[in-house]
Amino acid sequence: MRIRPGTRRTAGSVAGLALAGLLAATAAGTAPAAAAPTGADGGGSHRVEYFPQPGGAGRTVEVPATAPARTGRTSGASLSVAEATVDGTVGEQAVTGSTDDRLDVVIIGDGYTADQQDDFHADATAKWADITAIEPYRSYQNLFNVWTVDAVSNESGISGDPGADVVKDTALSSYFWCADTERLVCTDIDKVASYAAEAPAADLVVVIANSTKYGGAGYSGLQAEGYPFNGVSTLSSDHPSSSMIAAHEIGHSVGLLEDEYTYPSYGTWTGGETDGPNSTTYTPAQLVEKRAKWYRWLGQSDPTGSTVGTYEGSAYYPYGLYRPTSTSIMRELSSTDFNLPGREAMIAGFYRAGNALSTTLDTNTAIKHGKRIQVSLAVGTTGLARTDLRWYVDGVEKVRARGRTAVTPASLGVRADGRSHKVTAEAVDRTDAIRDPAVRALATDTLTWSVRATGHRK
Ligand SMILES: [Zn+2]
Repeated sequence: MRIRPGTRRTAGSVAGLALAGLLAATAAGTAPAAAAPTGADGGGSHRVEYFPQPGGAGRTVEVPATAPARTGRTSGASLSVAEATVDGTVGEQAVTGSTDDRLDVVIIGDGYTADQQDDFHADATAKWADITAIEPYRSYQNLFNVWTVDAVSNESGISGDPGADVVKDTALSSYFWCADTERLVCTDIDKVASYAAEAPAADLVVVIANSTKYGGAGYSGLQAEGYPFNGVSTLSSDHPSSSMIAAHEIGHSVGLLEDEYTYPSYGTWTGGETDGPNSTTYTPAQLVEKRAKWYRWLGQSDPTGSTVGTYEGSAYYPYGLYRPTSTSIMRELSSTDFNLPGREAMIAGFYRAGNALSTTLDTNTAIKHGKRIQVSLAVGTTGLARTDLRWYVDGVEKVRARGRTAVTPASLGVRADGRSHKVTAEAVDRTDAIRDPAVRALATDTLTWSVRATGHRK
């Protein structure tokens, strides 16, 4: 989707706020710093999440908004004439529709020289393939547009690789050893934003750092700081486990999911019910009684290997908050599955930002009854998706037209009877990965045309 200044269609900031609330409620917490970011004006900081070991749980920490002076970069890397000809070039890696109907992902490389842009494109393709091998990304990948923006670095590789003292001159000033943490790859969000702005739209940004070393990070809550996108994920290009970092981070920014891992120092949650769809203070009986959170999934066998219930420890609190399953990709990256509630939350997020049903025929202009109406479905009946397409004339379904992507009002039985009529196409994803009617409503998309009144036929 295209984000307009002053509007906020992504609800990702809601998760950030919920998290800020959790953090603020635990002044005694010793793990992540609770300080609010102070903005993108150079002296501020961002909250980021990283994963110290492949397959492990994450940590969160405050990091500087810009790279430290030791990397030698402040802003505006000077580019040679030859490099400037490709720097900022936008590529269409997987563009499936209009930005208004899609979740737009922008992938930017760091530590790739002018001669290495082909490597960057190959890495971007491979990383997106890793992410979309996971459900529900796999079934819904056509609700995404994937753009690349070429960022030309003066040196190959990024700072902190292989050792903490290595300094590289790169387009985005990304570096390992952020906040003295080897696997934490920070980047300059202002530079990221300037490259991302080259793409037609950016709902999510992924920065691929040219490195064989394991590492990455997730920045969230960026819209609240004035950026047009809410989340940025960094990951290293040539380590097989790094793709899972982005798959997890998109869980926050698109699915509004909370982390399901805990910090021992957080102790017991004593506040009220939380906002996240995957943590609760309730028992299973209370979930059912209140028709809350994942009550519709209780007792179901889950892709993560356990049975959906309430497992103590979630959203950093080892006690007093419960998660839906023993493990999941939101708890540790050794699990490459979302649990059933998480999967439904992800699909909800996909449909908040994307529309499965599209057309190039203007719905604001009345059409003649012989006019061909063509629609396209981004999501069909592969994998989890079960989208069906139905046609209605003045609210009455024309059953024989089910599944057709091209009709005319006349073929649907619209008569030239001197009155105007309405033709509606409706796509509904009837996937059993959705149980909440509110999510089913998000997964329902309609287009309606007015058919122009014509004279009576004698
Ligand atoms: Zn996380």
